[in-house]
Amino acid sequence: MTSSENNSHLEGPAPTSVKSCPDGQAANPRGQRLRARAKERIDLETKSELAALTARSDYHLSLDYFVNLMSLDLSPGAMKERLGRQLVALMCLQIPLEFFLALDLQPLRLYGGSLSAAKSAPPGLPALMCPILRSLMGEIIKEPSLGELDWIIPTTCDWVSGFESLRNLCFEASGTVRMVELPRRKEHALASEHWLSEVSGLWEYLKKISKVRAGRKELLAALATMEKARSALGRLSDLRRKGQVPALYFFLVTFSFFFDSVPAWTKAVNELADHFRTQKAAPGPGLFLTGSPILFPNFKLLHLFDELGLTIVGDDMCSGERLLFRHLALKDTSEDGILRALAETTHEGCLCPVYVENKRRLGPILEALRAANFKGVAFHLLKGCHPYEMDCLSLERDLLENQLRLVRLETDYAPEDRLNLMTRLEAFRSTL
Ligand code: SF4
Repeated sequence: MTSSENNSHLEGPAPTSVKSCPDGQAANPRGQRLRARAKERIDLETKSELAALTARSDYHLSLDYFVNLMSLDLSPGAMKERLGRQLVALMCLQIPLEFFLALDLQPLRLYGGSLSAAKSAPPGLPALMCPILRSLMGEIIKEPSLGELDWIIPTTCDWVSGFESLRNLCFEASGTVRMVELPRRKEHALASEHWLSEVSGLWEYLKKISKVRAGRKELLAALATMEKARSALGRLSDLRRKGQVPALYFFLVTFSFFFDSVPAWTKAVNELADHFRTQKAAPGPGLFLTGSPILFPNFKLLHLFDELGLTIVGDDMCSGERLLFRHLALKDTSEDGILRALAETTHEGCLCPVYVENKRRLGPILEALRAANFKGVAFHLLKGCHPYEMDCLSLERDLLENQLRLVRLETDYAPEDRLNLMTRLEAFRSTL
C-alpha cells in the first residue's frame, strides 16, 4: 500500500490545486494564466484533428457520434454530470473493465496524446520522459481536478510505476492512488495467484470507494455488456483486416471508449461497422501496426500511412485493437470464479512488453496474418519508451523468421520529423 492509499477518499477530499513547481507554478494569477493557455492550445489541437477527420472524402455520418463525443467538455466535472456516475482514473489496461461497470463507475483512461499538452507540462521533468505521460502532466495543468479523482496505477513500465511521485512533485492531489502490482515473470508458478490477489483486492477497493454493494449478479451483467462491446469492436477489426476501415477512424473509435457509457459506445461501433461493411477495400499494401500506443489527437503517423497509400489491416496496441482484450472463458459463475476468470484473462491476454519474457508478442501478428494480406509490420516507437525499444529488437528477429519485414518508426509528438518518417516509409513500401 502506498502512503497515498491511506489518504482516504471517504474522508472527503480537499480541492486540488497546482503546487509550487520548479518554476513556481501555483494556484495564483500566473498559474491561472498557464492553465488558460494550456486549455486554449489543447482544445485547438483537438478541434484541428477532428476537422481533418471530418474533411476526408470517406467521412460518413456514422462517425458523427465519435467526433461529437470528442468535441464535448471532457473535464471530470462535466463528464460526471453528463454520465451521472463517479469517475475513476486509470493508467494502462490490465484492470478488468467489468469492475467499473458492475459498480456503476466510469473509468477514465488518463493517457495523453496531445502535443500541446506535452508542451504545457511543468518544466523540470526528465528530458526523455515518455511523451504520453508528459502530455498527461500538461492535461493536469489544463484540468487540475483530475488530481481529485481516485487513481489506479498498475506497475507496468518504470514511467507509469513512478508517475505518482512525479505528479506529486508538481501537483497537490487529493484523491487516493491504488497501485496494482503486475507480476513481471508471467510464467512464474506463483504469478497467476499473485495477480488474482491483486485483482481481488482492487475489486474490494472499488466497492469501498463507490459505496456500491455488488457481487455475482452485477459482475455477470457487466460481463455480458463488455462481451457485446468486444463483439462490436471485433466486427470493426474484421473489416479492417479486409482493408475496409481506415486506421484514423479506428483509433478515434478506440480512444473514445472511456468517454461514454459502454452500451452507447457499442451501439455506435455496430452502426459504424454496418457502414464500413459496404465499403470497398483500400488498394494499397497492408501493414500491421505495433509498438507504443498511438493516441488521439496525435495521429501524425496514421496520416502518413494514409498519404502513402499504406493500409493498416490490424494492430496490437493497447490504444487500438487490444483495448478490450480477448473474450472471457467463464466456467465457474460464482463471484470467486468470475474474479478468477477476469484475472486469468487480463494476465494471459496482456501483450504489454513489460514482462520478462515477451515472446508471446508475435502471436497476434501471426494470427492476423491468417486473415489479412500483409508483408510488413510498422513499429511505432515513442522516444523514451524503453519496454517497446527493447521489444522491437527481438520482435524484428522473430518476424524475419516468419518472412515479415519490420520498419522501426521512432518518433515523438512533434511534427518536425514528418519528412524523415515519410522517407523511411516510402523506402519500406518499395520492399514489400
Ligand atoms: S510502456 Fe512505453 S508508451 Fe507505455 S507508458 Fe511506458 S514508456 Fe510510455
